[in-house]
Amino acid sequence: ETVYELTGVGKTYARNRVRALEGISLSLERGSFSSVIGSSGCGKSTLLKIMAGLIPPSQGRVTINNQPVRGPRRDIGMMFQHATLFPWRTTIENVLLPIEIRDGKAAAKAAWGRGEKLLDLVGLGGFESVYPDELSGGMAQRAAICRMLVTQPDMILLDEPFSALDEISRDFMNMELQRICTETNATAFLVTHSIAEAVILSDRVYVLAPRPGRIAEVVEIDLPRPRT
Ligand code: ADP
Ligand code: ADP
Repeated sequence: ETVYELTGVGKTYARNRVRALEGISLSLERGSFSSVIGSSGCGKSTLLKIMAGLIPPSQGRVTINNQPVRGPRRDIGMMFQHATLFPWRTTIENVLLPIEIRDGKAAAKAAWGRGEKLLDLVGLGGFESVYPDELSGGMAQRAAICRMLVTQPDMILLDEPFSALDEISRDFMNMELQRICTETNATAFLVTHSIAEAVILSDRVYVLAPRPGRIAEVVEIDLPRPRT
């Protein structure tokens, strides 16, 4: 079942007339994990922003569950390089924030159990009432994963989510991410500089060539993966 589809997507930034992307077509199956790799400046962030509905494409079509993506959506979760937890909110209050914004304080309270379960899932059980300044970088990123997943998005978009962590924490977090995606049947799309990371985590790797960014190669990866 196709969750996400891009057809002939191109992007020219009007301000400087940089042609960032051209003719991008891809389709993502529910529960799949895909990565995009490419050198700096080849259009990875632009692609992710278009997929998230944060900027419009200049050409082409983007759909999630057959509906056009025009602006940020609740069924698309995103995670960036630096987790920005609000320091004046506890860990679980940060995790439940998307629910509070969407449905109000009472709904966030009602979802407390779901927040606890997610924190448990990433090894942060017991840290519900702790404030972010007492969390390590890796712990904050794990809380950010929970926050991304708390609204149960169909699609998760990840822009080098762990590149600020040391190598050991990064490997660990990538494994965690893969496990959580499997357990929640999330469809994931990851931007990374690392070929190794892309190959280990993904079912499919898109290689982006620069100026303008276009898909140069699609590599299907067939490694044994944990399944629940
Ligand atoms: P990365 O290579 O890690 O994606 P960049 O330094 O290329 O980081 O870009 C950081 C941010 O600046 C991105 O959000 C990108 O869209 C934006 N950006 C990059 N190039 C330009 C530019 N020429 N004009 C305006 N914004 C830009
Ligand atoms: P990557 O994420 O692979 O580093 P980007 O998507 O950030 O690539 O950038 C692709 C190209 O588009 C680069 O030439 C960059 O300078 C340009 N670009 C990115 N963001 C902007 C922007 N907001 N305004 C103008 N040009 C941009």
